[in-house]
Amino acid sequence: MKRVYNFSAGPAVLPEEVLKEAAAEMLDYNGTGMSVMEMSHRSKAFEQIITEAEQDLRDLMQIPDNYKVLFLQGGASLQFAMIPMNLMKNGVADYIVTGQWAKKAFQEASKYGKVNKIATSEDKTFSYIPDCSDLPVSEDADYVYICENNTIYGTKYKTLPNTKGKTLVADVSSCFLSEPVDVTKYGVIYGGVQKNIGPAGVVIVIIREDLITEDVLPQTPTMMQYKTHADAGSLYNTPPAYGIYICGKVFKWLKKMGGLEVMKQRNEEKAKILYDFLDESKLFKGTVGKKDRSLMNVPFVTGDADLDAKFVKEAKEAGFENLKGHRTVGGMRASIYNAMPKEGVEKLVEFMKKFEAENC
Ligand SMILES: *Cc1c(COP(=O)(O)O)cnc(C)c1O
Repeated sequence: MKRVYNFSAGPAVLPEEVLKEAAAEMLDYNGTGMSVMEMSHRSKAFEQIITEAEQDLRDLMQIPDNYKVLFLQGGASLQFAMIPMNLMKNGVADYIVTGQWAKKAFQEASKYGKVNKIATSEDKTFSYIPDCSDLPVSEDADYVYICENNTIYGTKYKTLPNTKGKTLVADVSSCFLSEPVDVTKYGVIYGGVQKNIGPAGVVIVIIREDLITEDVLPQTPTMMQYKTHADAGSLYNTPPAYGIYICGKVFKWLKKMGGLEVMKQRNEEKAKILYDFLDESKLFKGTVGKKDRSLMNVPFVTGDADLDAKFVKEAKEAGFENLKGHRTVGGMRASIYNAMPKEGVEKLVEFMKKFEAENC
């Protein structure tokens, strides 16, 4: 068996321990004589899986009782529509556009109401987070929307925007569970789990209860109403059961590791190894200024597209996979999510040093 260091932005690396456990339980989950994939979502065994998964997530993030946790489908991209359809009571929302995903969410929301772009970093190819301390938040905005960690560009909000009392909605797909968060600062926190939690197919929505109402835009499909899923405990229809089971295992792994405070320390340590090298390298350089750097996604370039391609190719041969940057930006990107061991980052930097010596 061969395992590579997988720097993919998503679907991404999962803890090896979790994969081994799932493998051991593949044919017989906990004495049921069947795989979780073969199990009724109404069974006792699955009920326990989803209940424990929710409780472990609540423990990890210290989610207050007045927030619901929903396990949904359709990816983060479906939330781009569900959010306006459920939350736009006045038909107005403010968006801060710091990357492709925020831009897509902004464009989708424009179909449903009056959507204002109150700040953007598009002028410098999304390489920074704009100052959000005193933005022109609309009087009648139903919410202010951000993408908290920009997977493609490698930027992250270090302080949340001042929403002037409006509900904050955040896409945390690529920084979910990477550090502690104060849930009470948000109305909605959501993300696809395939970046930093589990397998593709599950999206987790953490939503304050007062935002879950029947007062949604006309013609909102039943499946796209938060109330449908909140009332049914995420079991209105067949949920992505196997994915939820793996997420639950990752939550237990995170608890065993020491929780989100410990993950933050680990993630800072790992990111520092890579950023420190980029700051001193004569060949490679990071594309994001120090103050806005993501701990999860680290884009870098040599400044020469041919040399970038050579690096990606040789890195792959050496067992470092998926280092090619997003197709819209080029260069390289190392995604170093929770499950990437420190050793993986150390070995990558060693390899980069060697490549620099040979090509400089
Ligand atoms: C990957 C990603 C998305 C899109 O996720 P899907 O589950 O593929 O719809 C949205 N937002 C962010 C921040 C992402 O990283």
